[in-house]
This record gives sequence, C-alpha cells and structure tokens, in this order.
Amino acid sequence: MWHRLSPYAKLCIDVAHPDRLLPAEPGTRQIARRLYQSTRALPIVSPHGHCDPSVLAEDRSFGDPAIELVTRDHYLLRMLYSQGVPLQSLGVQPRDGSPAETDGRQIWRTFARNFHLFRGTPSRLWLEHTLSEVFGLGVPLRPETADRTYDEMCTRLEEERLRPRALFDRFGIEFLATTDSALSDLGPHAILRASGWPGRVVPTFRPDDVVDPSRPGFRSNLEKLGDLTRCDTSSWKGYLDAIRQRRAEFARAGATASDHGHPSALTADLATPEAEALFARVTGDADSADDAERFRALMLVQMAAMSMDDGLVLQLHAGAWRDHNPSLFARFGPDIGADVPRPSGYVGALKPLLDRFGNEDRLTVVVYTLDETTYSRELAPLAGHYPALRLGPPWWFFDSPEGMRRFYRMVTETAGFANTVGFNDDARSLLTIPGRHDVARRVNAGYLAELVAEHRMAEDDAETIAADLAYHLAARTFRTTL
Ligand SMILES: [Zn+2]
Repeated sequence: MWHRLSPYAKLCIDVAHPDRLLPAEPGTRQIARRLYQSTRALPIVSPHGHCDPSVLAEDRSFGDPAIELVTRDHYLLRMLYSQGVPLQSLGVQPRDGSPAETDGRQIWRTFARNFHLFRGTPSRLWLEHTLSEVFGLGVPLRPETADRTYDEMCTRLEEERLRPRALFDRFGIEFLATTDSALSDLGPHAILRASGWPGRVVPTFRPDDVVDPSRPGFRSNLEKLGDLTRCDTSSWKGYLDAIRQRRAEFARAGATASDHGHPSALTADLATPEAEALFARVTGDADSADDAERFRALMLVQMAAMSMDDGLVLQLHAGAWRDHNPSLFARFGPDIGADVPRPSGYVGALKPLLDRFGNEDRLTVVVYTLDETTYSRELAPLAGHYPALRLGPPWWFFDSPEGMRRFYRMVTETAGFANTVGFNDDARSLLTIPGRHDVARRVNAGYLAELVAEHRMAEDDAETIAADLAYHLAARTFRTTL
C-alpha cells in the first residue's frame, strides 16, 4: 500500500516516524517527547568506537556506500549469514583469494533483498536513520528501491556536505575517540592535529596485541613494541617501560582512555618475582592458556597502576567468545559476526584490582559486559560502592532499545545514574554515529518519562538526567574538555 501514500507519509511510516521508540501510552509519550526534544540537539560525545581516523585526516569522500554500510558492519553480516546469505556476496573477501563480490550495487541489491530480516532489530533503526537523516533519502529500502537508493547515495557522497569533516560538524560531534593498536604510529591523528581543523578526534590506547599472549603474532608484536620504543621488551621491566612510553605517546596525541578487550574480567595483583616468571613463560616456550589468562589479568592491574600516574580512564570490554565458528574464521578471519557472549563473573574477577585501587577517586575504571545477568547481581552493586568503578553502557548485543531499557531497570536503582557513563556508539562508520545516539536519546527519554509518569521523579530532574545521559556523563568520565 505504501506506493499510494505521499512521499512524506511514506517516509514517516516506513522510515522514520517522529515518535519512534517513544512510549505508546499517550500521557507518558507527551513527557517523553519533551525530554527527547530537550536532548535532541546536544553535541555528540563519542568516547568509544572504531571509526578510521584516516577518513577524517584525509577528508576524502567515502568510498562505496554498500561497502561502508554493509560489508564493514558485523551486526549485519551475522544476521545475513545466519539466513544463508554467503559472506562473499556481501563483499567479504575470503583469505584464500577466492572471489568475493566487489560491485557495490550488487552488494546493495543483495542487502535490500534481505533487509526484511532486520525487522524489529536495532540494525534496522540505525540504518533507516542513516538513509533518511544523513543521506536524505525519501523512500524506504526494499528490493525494488535498491538501485534508486544506491544511486542516490553514490551521488550524495560526492557532495562536499557529505565529506567526513563536514559530516562531523553537521552531526554536532564534539569529541570522537578512535580505537588504536598499541603499535600504531598514530599518523592520521598527527595529520589531523597539524591540519588546523578544530574537530576533536583522539586515539584510544588499545594494547590487546601486546598484552594478550593468545593473540596471533604476540611475540613478534613485542619485538615491534621494542623497536618502536627502544626498550628491551624481552624483560618484564623493559616491557612495562615500553607500554608506559606508548601510553604517554597516546596521551600526547590527545588520548584520555585505554581500552582492553579481554575474554574475561579476571584481574591479578602479583608480586614482581611472580610477574617476571609469568612474563618469561608467556614470552617463552612454556606458555599455556592458563598462563595467558593470568597474564591478561596481571596486565589489567598493571594498567590500572599506570592510569593512576597518567590519568587515562581504563575501559574493560569483557566477555566475548571471539571467532566462535572455526571454519568461518579459517575462511574469512576475524570480525565477521561470529563472536558470541559468554558468562562472565565480576565480583571475584575484579577483586584484586579493586583491593588495590577501588577506593581511589583518581582512577576511573569503566566496565562493559556482554553478560546481562551480571548487571543487577554484580556490576550495579560494585559500581554503587567503589569510587573507582563506573558502568559502561550496554554494548554490542545489547546496545538496542530493549537492551538499554533492561540496563536502566537492572542498574539504576542500585547504582544511580551517576555511576553510569552515558552512551557509546561503538560505530564502524562515521555515517552511522548520529543514528545510534538518536536511538539512545529516544530510549532514555522513554525510560525517564515512565519514572516521571509514576511520580518517581520530577520532570525537571528527568530533564537534567536526560542531558547527563546524552552528553555530560560521557564528557565528564572521559575528560573531554581540554
Ligand atoms: Zn568497540
């Protein structure tokens, strides 16, 4: 029936209804509308994501829209693969060099044919926001509109106003942190600083490649770390010096945080001889999975100690079983949507770190989890007590409307809003950042409106908290103001 409606009505119904995600009950919806409007235009603080800094450094027009929006988005790839869509047809290149689709139009057609699979998922909400608000497309994505939407996106990506820096300004991004390997030369960040462009784009120190002995290439990465810092990374002391040096380099480039992607949240505070012996084992021939886990645990406490000195906020993303599908990993490598959450414990796992640093107000540890069951039982009680601990927003499988609502319900009665840190978009493409923040701001408004409607919170307090969740908590936690 949609083709009988006016273009604007089609857009509202199929693409972007102005009340999307707001409560259905009319009285609560009115409150939510006011709260949403009060945060809608606040600047975006993006303290964690995976945008490529060279995109902004070079400020060239984005490449093919299908590759930008589909091939790079592991949320989309996993769903499509689960329904029998071959990854090659979505542009994912097999490692053995066998062919994959390289024509963006064909990739977009395949995606459009299968877009119905995303009904009811946040991926659909984010993508529709990008299509309607960023590209200004007035038709919903369907198999029969695939070519038209693809052509329009290609045309618009050539326009100056869709260049990365122009979009950064248009989106109102005040602070954008990228995620960078400890071995990165931070070249794009240097270009950005030297360019005189005022946009604030900073790196985040992500040392998994040199901290996790189970990563491929761990030992050669330590050699690279040694070359980069002129430290003897074959010794425990030299290794720590090298990491300290790299952190300082990142901080000079504007970093305000480190980030650690660990299979578990285990921490360990070991005396120096024990740490030296463990380091010798994981860098020698006698390494084991248990040693690798213990070494990662040791390094989290070491990183917290370094944060006490250099002020970087320590983020821990724990609980992903990466590359769960071995044959797919063998064919395509990592980051193609084959990661799955696993049960995680925090009360015992974080205790060594909290025993040493939990009472420090100079340290901020932000914990993200992929195990929702730990929110009310473990993480909210911990963050509602330890001054050093904050709860990161629901992440990855849970950065969805229902995931965010569950988070607020499970966490805020125990930890309050002040022990949370606002929203992270975790975006892979600059084009998708505002859509993700918009979904979060709408969900926040809806949740707070419920509290107001039940007379659990005054509306002016809800407005303050809506602004905190949209902007101030992230700005404060990640020290985004110079
Ligand atoms: Zn991330």
